[in-house]
Amino acid sequence: MKVSKVHFSSVAMRPLASLVAPRLTTLLPPARRAASGTLQIKDPLNYWSGGRVRLSDTGNVEAVYEPATGRVLCQLQTCGPAHVDAAVRSSSSALAVWRKMAGMERARIMLQAARLIEKRREEIATVEVVDNGKSITEARLDVDSARLCIEYFAGLATTMAGQHVQLAGGSFAYTRREPLGVCVGIGAWNYPFQIAAWKSAPALACGNSMVFKPSPVTPLSAVLLAETYREAGAPEGLFNVVQGGEETGSLLCHHPSVAKVSFTGSVPTGKKIMEMAARGVKPVTLELGGKSPLIIFEDCDLENAVRGALMANFLSQGQVCSNGTRVFVHRPILPQFLKAVVRRTRGIRIGDPLLDETRMGALVSRPHLDKVLGYVEQAKEEGARVLCGGEPFTPEDPALKHGYHMTPCVLDNCKDDMTCVQEEIFGPVMCVLTFDTEEEVLQRANNTTFGLAAGVFTKDIQRAHRVVENLQAGSCFINNYNITPVEVPFGGYKSSGIGRENGQVTIEFFSQLKTVVVEMGDVDSLF
Ligand code: NAD
Repeated sequence: MKVSKVHFSSVAMRPLASLVAPRLTTLLPPARRAASGTLQIKDPLNYWSGGRVRLSDTGNVEAVYEPATGRVLCQLQTCGPAHVDAAVRSSSSALAVWRKMAGMERARIMLQAARLIEKRREEIATVEVVDNGKSITEARLDVDSARLCIEYFAGLATTMAGQHVQLAGGSFAYTRREPLGVCVGIGAWNYPFQIAAWKSAPALACGNSMVFKPSPVTPLSAVLLAETYREAGAPEGLFNVVQGGEETGSLLCHHPSVAKVSFTGSVPTGKKIMEMAARGVKPVTLELGGKSPLIIFEDCDLENAVRGALMANFLSQGQVCSNGTRVFVHRPILPQFLKAVVRRTRGIRIGDPLLDETRMGALVSRPHLDKVLGYVEQAKEEGARVLCGGEPFTPEDPALKHGYHMTPCVLDNCKDDMTCVQEEIFGPVMCVLTFDTEEEVLQRANNTTFGLAAGVFTKDIQRAHRVVENLQAGSCFINNYNITPVEVPFGGYKSSGIGRENGQVTIEFFSQLKTVVVEMGDVDSLF
């Protein structure tokens, strides 16, 4: 297929659908390869407010790169105070309509959005790959996860209910579960579409509206979600997207009309978000980083544990918050484990993330790739042994020669105090540690400020539950890893976060209780 050179003109207030999605997708494989060097999206990917794309009010423009090729994908115009304010006001107007709708009505619109996502699955997944660098196979699963989340919370939209409490003398009280108002969602770059859905679906189900800020590194797919909600019949401005980085994010957190901030990102940024929200006494949900332990006992099904260790470390090029990157292996099975894990790791197919057969795409950016490779170098200096990978990788396809690829790495001989074991690397680097006893491994597994996730592989069911009971982590996996169905809560202990996403409990984080006391007799006044 041949694709002609594309020129985008800068036109403000153009309907979004004609600006982003169709043009991007016409450029995708095999076309993208044929059109090597011609993909330049010149239009600003501004923000969605009231269903329209607008120019930046700051004049700041940031280049967005395609991780697989290293080419400039588009220019992002960031939003300043005027546009942040406009987006919040637009969301406030939508809120007035949305919160009055019956849960059934909100559910119907959300289910329609889910159907549209299903229909546009390939298109959204492709945009995600071009923007983030992950494999198309994983991106499709992310789109499915987003859709399932919207379907799940559409169901819960009909269950928002209070309590009736009988009081003395025939008086009574009742509680109403009410929305919070305009919520802000701020996302990380590793699961751009999924994060936007995981935040917006419970917020909207509870009758809130949302202004969402994706990472400036991966700004595209949240815009498609906004488009989907709108097409499904959501009021104008119900889910707005503003583009930008730290400055735009802090404008949102400080905005007086914002009722809540739901954030996914790193621990240092999470702390700043909490401080900003504290000034307005706004509740926060924080989904932060991790350095999770994966404990493999000698009585496990070894083949299964090896598969689990790979899932726990190499999903999304290792850029997953819950990854089990501290792999504790029971000493008697260490040689067999290492042999099997290295064999499988060497077999991981790295390459064009748009191809079905690719299992590992590109890391999200050049600075991030350099940072991850720097961690591998430091690990070597501190005494770790590289069993495989940990090097830049150049795929055969010339179009990918400037992409941000690296070979997945297994580090042996790791010690608890090494930097690679202490810090979140957020790349395809597995640190293998050895242990002798259950008591010892529990103490070492918990010896971290993080507490997002943990895994255990064993056939001893009592041991499995005993270990899990003592692990300080919000999500634990027995004989599997990184399974996050929307029906169950996900979130961190300790510095890995506050609050939960998914599961019924999320309703509590996006609503507030009003108590109404009804007097059936006379006022018994003391005065
Ligand atoms: P980051 O903290 O650098 O940025 C996250 C978001 O916050 C971005 O949208 C960024 O623009 C915005 N931001 C930065 N400074 C801000 C400020 N002062 N005020 C408001 N917003 C601000 O994180 P990242 O590099 O995009 O993502 C990687 C991190 O995210 C990792 O630590 C990873 O573990 C974490 N993460 C956690 C989860 C989870 O569910 N726990 C999921 C995905 C990623």
